[in-house]
Amino acid sequence: MIVALVVVAAAVGLVIVGAVAWREHRHFVDAEENRRRDDEMHRRQEGEVADSEARLRLSLDAITQGVVMADADGTVLYRNPYSQPFTEARHGEALVEAAVSELLAEAAQGRAVEREVELFGPPRQCLFVSAMPLRAEGRDYGSVALIDDITEPQRLDAMRRDFVANISHELRTPMGALSLLAETLAGETDPEVVSRLAVRVQAEAIRLSDIMDDLLELSRIESNEASERAPVAIQHVISDALSRARATAEEKDVPIETALPALDLVVRADRRQLTSAVFNLLDNAVKYSEATRPVRVTTRLEGNWVEVEVRDQGYGIPLRHQERIFERFYQVDRSRGQTDGGVGLGLAIVRHVATNHGGEVRVESTEGEGSSFTLAVPIGAQA
Ligand code: ADP
Repeated sequence: MIVALVVVAAAVGLVIVGAVAWREHRHFVDAEENRRRDDEMHRRQEGEVADSEARLRLSLDAITQGVVMADADGTVLYRNPYSQPFTEARHGEALVEAAVSELLAEAAQGRAVEREVELFGPPRQCLFVSAMPLRAEGRDYGSVALIDDITEPQRLDAMRRDFVANISHELRTPMGALSLLAETLAGETDPEVVSRLAVRVQAEAIRLSDIMDDLLELSRIESNEASERAPVAIQHVISDALSRARATAEEKDVPIETALPALDLVVRADRRQLTSAVFNLLDNAVKYSEATRPVRVTTRLEGNWVEVEVRDQGYGIPLRHQERIFERFYQVDRSRGQTDGGVGLGLAIVRHVATNHGGEVRVESTEGEGSSFTLAVPIGAQA
């Protein structure tokens, strides 16, 4: 009996020891498992932080705006590639770098600041530098500076302002004349004078409508809107332009001669645009020539280019103006332009047509001897 009790007690003891050992083993395994899980979670979290940091950095690297970040002491911690050139030691870049450092330091004091920095180049450049503090939940993380190149927006803005000013000026002249003529007409009883004034009213009205036509044509060509590309025979373009220019040429007694190649030249183009360009060159050649001085239109094939040359023996253009005559509203001699009905848009139209067709327009001119304008467009097909 005693033996049996001892055996049972020993067995119970063994079971208890085994259970304790098993429980400890389980605890150990569970703790290991938890630690492994924690480690993994930690690693995953660290990986996620690294990923989002990389993503953030790559995004900052990609933007076309300079970004420079500094800590609260003004030490630069990060600079994206767009802002890198401004750290170079050239004078202009040093100016930008100085502005960035100053603005970062000011922003670190807690307020947003900005400044325009002009680099006189060449090329001239205008930069807008702004900086702001980096603060969140009462903590200071330093400051960030942004650099924007505003050269192009500024240039476009100035161009827009000039354009509006020029249009207003060009419209004001005939409008003023019309108003004066109408006032005189109202008080006039002599039928002969009335009819003379009426003729002038009509001339001013035509001038106004010519200006509007040129403006609409230029805006259509500039936007290249509804531009149709189809095979166009250059001969047809020349004859269309000639028939538009003929009336003025005959009125001024300026003969127009043409020299076309034996071969038919065909380009892929917008026929209306090309006709408008050739007409403007012809119209100018006639406008800026004395009576009986001939204008010659020559068409030729130069490699893969079709060239239309309009040559006159007119007043010619001084060298210093030759660069600028293709600008909108630019006129060498405004008083001559006024009497000839020009506004200064013709050559801007020609240049746009050339650009739209992947071509170019060239000028050669000698004052007092004459000018030669060549419109060159790449050939699309030849028949
Ligand atoms: P405009 O309406 O004044 O003719 P354009 O843009 O066609 O304007 O030409 C700009 C300026 O270039 C003209 O005002 C004129 O002074 C000069 N110009 C253009 N073509 C000729 C030419 N064939 N001969 C002399 N001057 C020219």
